[in-house]
Amino acid sequence: MSTKQRNLIFNILKEAGRPLTRNELLSQGRKYLPKLGSATVDRFIKEMCQKFELVGLSFPSQPTRFELPAEKEHPHFICRVCQKVFDLDIPMRLPKVTLPEGFYLTGGEVVYSGTCPNCEG
Ligand SMILES: [Zn+2]
Repeated sequence: MSTKQRNLIFNILKEAGRPLTRNELLSQGRKYLPKLGSATVDRFIKEMCQKFELVGLSFPSQPTRFELPAEKEHPHFICRVCQKVFDLDIPMRLPKVTLPEGFYLTGGEVVYSGTCPNCEG
């Protein structure tokens, strides 16, 4: 994949300011590069996740969304109407947990839900 494609997807993620699904990345990317292929987006996601330059977010019965690693932990908000996921710029600290033996912690999530400004009511 070319540097141009890589930079484009990176910028889409940066400007979105919220986690995006693979399909959102693809459709937004095609606005700028109409020939952008789904295999290219998949490869980008895989490579970036392996390098920890992209973080996948999975919520029950939702497609995985991706965002750039944040400098600080932050909660997410999922809109029950349009199903979009937003980053909440609220400082937070996850509670420390002691896991049973054999478990290795790599992350945690705080997710709020409700309606977003576009869907209020
Ligand atoms: Zn909404």
